[in-house]
Amino acid sequence: MGRLTGKTALVTGSSRGMGRATALRLAADGALVAVHYARGKEEAEDVVATIEKDGGRAFTVRAELGVPGDVHELFLGLEEGLRERTGSTALDILVNNAGVMGGVKPEETTPDRFDEIFAVNAKAPFFLIQRALKNLRDGGRIINISSGLTRFANPDEIAYAMAKGAVEQLALHFAKYLGPRRITINSVAPGITRNGSPVFDIPEAVEQMAAMSAFNRVGEPEDVADVVAFLASDDARWITGSFVDATGGTLLG
Ligand code: NDP
Repeated sequence: MGRLTGKTALVTGSSRGMGRATALRLAADGALVAVHYARGKEEAEDVVATIEKDGGRAFTVRAELGVPGDVHELFLGLEEGLRERTGSTALDILVNNAGVMGGVKPEETTPDRFDEIFAVNAKAPFFLIQRALKNLRDGGRIINISSGLTRFANPDEIAYAMAKGAVEQLALHFAKYLGPRRITINSVAPGITRNGSPVFDIPEAVEQMAAMSAFNRVGEPEDVADVVAFLASDDARWITGSFVDATGGTLLG
């Protein structure tokens, strides 16, 4: 029996990157995982197939976040998938992982781009949590993926870092609100972590990025997934409202 056996989990943006690694890890720990995606249908199906091959349970849920009706669409798929497999729509773990970076200079950030960055990175997690509270069982877990950029300056990512700063506020205030139900909520801030981006295929770029970590390497998706899995477990029942630095020491300066 895994430590999450009998639990259900939703991981947003789990078709790729850290979300994928988190879905695989939570499923390996025994949870039934809803693998959420927007455009990566095949990738999400591959995540489910990988989980099932290893004896776990998962299903896909599609919804573009940051657009009107996003939360409604996601929960239609989520509740249908949960009901089919468990006979109930109860959720134990919500991981708000889906996100988009800005990569745009301050003077080139248009109001539309700013709104888009906020809609996906900050607004969607708030309303996903608001909606999920109907499904979350007492003792549930909410984990929001922030970024080391809330404490490490990068002028091309001002709007993104502002949105992630807003995500960190979710943990502070919701923690107080959800405490009576023993639901914990925490922020995990990754540093530079390998994803499908082509920059990770350029050895010189990887070397430069690695030098920012105390361990002289870039993060692997599993480095972050393991932290999320800990916060999702019963072992983390006494931690709420916290900011967890998962940057591999990048913030040490
Ligand atoms: P990836 O860029 O590899 O994947 C992003 C995931 O989010 C995909 O599954 C994608 O779905 C989903 N997604 C993106 N936009 C939307 C949208 N509008 N609606 C629904 N789903 C969406 O992610 P990473 O692993 O790099 O990052 C995961 C989280 O970690 C993000 O919140 C990111 O901001 C944060 N982070 C990343 C760092 C890094 O160095 N990689 C560093 C610090 C924080 P699909 O492909 O199906 O469209």
